[in-house]
Amino acid sequence: MEYVYNCNNMKLESSGILISLRPFGERDCVAHIFTSGYGVMCGMMRGAMVAKKNRPLVGQVGVASWNARLDSQLGTFHWEPEKNLAAGVMLSRGGLGFLNSAFGLILSLLPEREQYKNLYDQTLNMLDNLCSDAATELYQNWEIALLREMGYALDLRSCSGCGTHDDLQYLSPRTGRAVCAKCAAPYVDKLYHLPLDLNVLRHFINRACDAQGVELPLARKIL
Ligand SMILES: [Zn+2]
Repeated sequence: MEYVYNCNNMKLESSGILISLRPFGERDCVAHIFTSGYGVMCGMMRGAMVAKKNRPLVGQVGVASWNARLDSQLGTFHWEPEKNLAAGVMLSRGGLGFLNSAFGLILSLLPEREQYKNLYDQTLNMLDNLCSDAATELYQNWEIALLREMGYALDLRSCSGCGTHDDLQYLSPRTGRAVCAKCAAPYVDKLYHLPLDLNVLRHFINRACDAQGVELPLARKIL
């Protein structure tokens, strides 16, 4: 991670994951890279549409150098891909859905230029293992981590009513906290049944999207 600044030129460098490429004109793309050092960064990738070799692709992990004359400008990326995590994931349909959903949520929910080092590391680890049998569990844990970063931490360790660690069978949609079977008895129809699954998590992800004024990404809708 490097940081160079002078009066009218700014340069940032970090390893990252290419999460979005949008064509801009006939040759260039606007890219979003989830970086280890600076969180989500946006910039132009010159010639990305016509590159013959080292073509930028969503799902690549590499090193991004971002340059701008002024900090407020869109800036330009130089991108050195090291490996393509999406390539392996393509072989598993479920895995690709998780990858697209994670990238959509990062793009929609994380503010630019705010570092999320733990979430970044967890994202890399998840992408590395999306072909495994643990893909669903890894993805669900990733969403739980994302929710924590967004201020919607779920508490699955103890009952919000009595504090017990045993017989935690329910989750409160309102507080995101676990409820034991005994405390849950009067409200069972208002609570989610544990263990967590993608449908229950969607409720909390939706709430985070509402709070940010963004729509749930399509890739998450269809999971
Ligand atoms: Zn209880």
